[in-house]
Amino acid sequence: MDALGELPPSRPTKKESVRDLLTIFSDTVKVKFTVKDDDNEVVAVQTLKGRWCLVCREDPKFAGSACRGAFKLGGNSSCRQHI
Ligand SMILES: [Zn+2]
Repeated sequence: MDALGELPPSRPTKKESVRDLLTIFSDTVKVKFTVKDDDNEVVAVQTLKGRWCLVCREDPKFAGSACRGAFKLGGNSSCRQHI
């Protein structure tokens, strides 16, 4: 079998393959989150790269400081699992 002759016809471009994700996720962005202790003192600032789940973000339970829960780290496949 000649592997070179078995190239897939036309792979979808990266932009196309995430198009369904973009209907409920934002583009990949960097967001700073502050980590607070029990006294509401900022103990650390994390810069995280990921996507907002636009659905969760509208959810009142992710309002304010809980918004970290609507921010999805990791690759497109983990976002897809979340759908
Ligand atoms: Zn969500």
